Amino acid sequence: MATTFECKKLCNVCFVFGIFVKKQQLNHKTHLKLKKILPKATFLMEQDKKILVKCGGFSTQLAKHVGSKIDGDPLWGSRFDHENPSAVVRTHLDFLENGAQIILSNTYQSSVQGFMKHLKLSREQSIALMRKSVQLAKEARDLYLKNVVEKGGTTETILVMGSVGPYGAMLHDGSEYCGSYTDKVSKEEFQSFHRIRIDALLEENVDGLSVETIPCQKEAEAVTEILLRDYAHVKFWISFQCKDDLHLAHGENFANAAKAVWDMIKKKHGAKAKDHIYGIGVNCVNPNFVANLFKSLHTLLGNEDLPPLVVYSNRGEIYDADKGEWTGLDDCIPMESYVPDWIRLGATIIGGCCRVYPEDILQIRKCVDSFGNNNELSSFNNKLN
Ligand SMILES: [Zn+2]
Repeated sequence: MATTFECKKLCNVCFVFGIFVKKQQLNHKTHLKLKKILPKATFLMEQDKKILVKCGGFSTQLAKHVGSKIDGDPLWGSRFDHENPSAVVRTHLDFLENGAQIILSNTYQSSVQGFMKHLKLSREQSIALMRKSVQLAKEARDLYLKNVVEKGGTTETILVMGSVGPYGAMLHDGSEYCGSYTDKVSKEEFQSFHRIRIDALLEENVDGLSVETIPCQKEAEAVTEILLRDYAHVKFWISFQCKDDLHLAHGENFANAAKAVWDMIKKKHGAKAKDHIYGIGVNCVNPNFVANLFKSLHTLLGNEDLPPLVVYSNRGEIYDADKGEWTGLDDCIPMESYVPDWIRLGATIIGGCCRVYPEDILQIRKCVDSFGNNNELSSFNNKLN
């Protein structure tokens, strides 16, 4: 029997005990009573999903190693797969050594158009550079695991995902944060743009694709369509950029857009849909928006029909495009303080995006592990004490 939610407030308490108290109808008052008598840990033990921690803001950390300003570069971090590959490996290692279980190829802003224009590469060389980015991530993973073994530690599975940034990243005008290109680009144009990089990443046998920072429903559906049709064996996540706690950057309702993608996946894979994706979610959003975005999806879908959720927000600072810098750091609170809420709301992949550093990822990992769902001994367990 399905768990049923009577509470209209959709508060965290309701979600907590909605998961814990199976097969019962609960109202908000009942939830509040239960909160007093049941320990939080009971709920957490009920969760059977293992939560994985993703790395943080790659280009943010990369900037520490390359000694030059990356924000503002038309190729952003992707330039350094070509110009400073050892710094790219070092950056991946920074996150792995601080508890990341998922790293992404440095291909967010990689495109044939961008590499031809700004690096003077041929089409073939551009595609080869995208493949090299996966090789660098795998090199870092292998190096990390080798170090763990040599130090007598216990290894854990590390996923290397291929980053599929939005069409707007190639334009390098910040338009992935408003989706202004949405109506000027056809579905077919979106698909042929993304297909080149998807093919390159898959040639290098990534563990999956992270389709990320997508500002509009149209682009999300276009990519999902070709993934389901032409790459049905590939596991992926779709992650939206949102401008507030209800809407995508381009203005569509987040819950409706996420549902549209989820419906496509369910139509293709039926009852096994959840096994074919890492999740649907949000990234590079203000962390203060995430809980309400997820709650809106709960409201629309009900808790039984929810896909696995992915979240890797930015720190909550504001990017000033004119100045080319981030502002508002003083208003931010520690990233890990958001994690319990995100877990309660169904997040199964949690990490960081822009301005989230390895030390933040370590705190997020500590928080995820403290909930008791990452029971494997890992190489950095000593850091958790
Ligand atoms: Zn970001």
